[in-house]
Amino acid sequence: MKRILVIEDSALVTKVIRHVIAQDPHIEAIYANSFAQAKFAYDQMKGDLFAALVDLNLPDAPNGEVVDYMLERKVPTIVLTGSVDEEKREALLNKGIVDYVTKEGRYSYKYAVNLINRIYNNQNIKVLVVDDSATSRNFVTDLLQRQLFQVLEAENGVEAIKVLLDNPDIKLLITDYNMPVMDGFELVKNLRYKYEKSDLIIIGLSGEGQSSLSTKFIKNGANDFLMKPFNHEEFQCRVMHNVESLELLEKVKDAANRDYLTGAYNRRYFFDLGQQMYDNARENATPLAAVVLDLDSFKRINDTYGHEAGDLILKHITDVLQECLDRFLVARAGGEEFFILLPGLDNEKAISLIGKVRQIVVSTPVLYNDEELFFTFSAGITNKLKDSLDEQINWSDVLLYRAKEAGRDLIIGDDDEEILT
Ligand code: GH3
Ligand code: MG
Ligand code: MG
Repeated sequence: MKRILVIEDSALVTKVIRHVIAQDPHIEAIYANSFAQAKFAYDQMKGDLFAALVDLNLPDAPNGEVVDYMLERKVPTIVLTGSVDEEKREALLNKGIVDYVTKEGRYSYKYAVNLINRIYNNQNIKVLVVDDSATSRNFVTDLLQRQLFQVLEAENGVEAIKVLLDNPDIKLLITDYNMPVMDGFELVKNLRYKYEKSDLIIIGLSGEGQSSLSTKFIKNGANDFLMKPFNHEEFQCRVMHNVESLELLEKVKDAANRDYLTGAYNRRYFFDLGQQMYDNARENATPLAAVVLDLDSFKRINDTYGHEAGDLILKHITDVLQECLDRFLVARAGGEEFFILLPGLDNEKAISLIGKVRQIVVSTPVLYNDEELFFTFSAGITNKLKDSLDEQINWSDVLLYRAKEAGRDLIIGDDDEEILT
């Protein structure tokens, strides 16, 4: 939850802002209608306060004093204003505000709320600024830090590659063209051998009067370019646009890895990620427990209560599994069957952990049309790595089958298998 402070004296504007914010479940706003109230609210909230949305003109602060007050306290500040002329705009931006929003109806307040969410997410995004000129680097770094990005710097291409190797989670790189040792083009060309456009965004900066360089940046593999000199807003829009498309792409990728009904990972993703866990276990001779878990007599539940009830149970078991096994890999393999990998657990510990899940499942019914639905599952668990992950899972499935044969609501591990055969 992000807590923000809205400082606005017009009741009408406040009403619209309240309406817009009410639609965002992740933002909680405190409202103040004067500078005095704002100071009081700030003292109450302090470290809890994420950002402020402030009116430039208040009866007890007619000249934007409240903006200075917030900025001095390092509160990310978005300014609300009736109108801004060029000069005032420059002055405001130079002070270090995140952005300003002209009060032009609901859309502009939505923009402000989006911006708050944007800068909140930016806190988790690492950006690398590559430029040999300290002045130019500082300018870009300052703009990025206002947007709350985590900023790293490098003075040339070679240094940039080093920083990238040390920080593989860098998502955005902004590079100048003219630099000693390795220039911007060479850097982009080099990076594209390793990083896809969807893994690392690169924005090239070209110098004054070098407009042909801009398109060359793109041809060499940059996602976008900006021509110097650029102002605060051009820069911010370009960065925001690129980061948003990257996030959209990541969402699409994530959706492709998940099952639509339950949101659990799907079978394909299980084998993708599972392969790394399997290789790791082989290389380091560490334990890896593989679980195949299947709901018992699920067809009967569907037949008795309908598919909607069945779906509800599938979602419920997914939630329980994800909550109890949050450090591990859980996937819906299909139908009412789940695959789970538990790296680091020997067979006995894995059985005990899945046993705890069983305890929770059998004691918490799913509510459907005021009726309590109880259900059980069976599972096969093996730590035998076999010749491949596929074969290990197949063996867990054999154990599961034995559990079904033995009467269901049962967990069978490597030792039980000997007893049963
Ligand atoms: P067993 O204990 O041997 O596993 O019996 P079972 O009835 O659970 O197994 P069976 O394979 O005979 O039936 C599985 C049922 O799961 C049949 C299918 O309609 C149902 N099922 C598969 N996917 C879904 C789903 O997404 N939603 C619902 N509601 N049912 C599903
Ligand atoms: Mg079943
Ligand atoms: Mg089945």
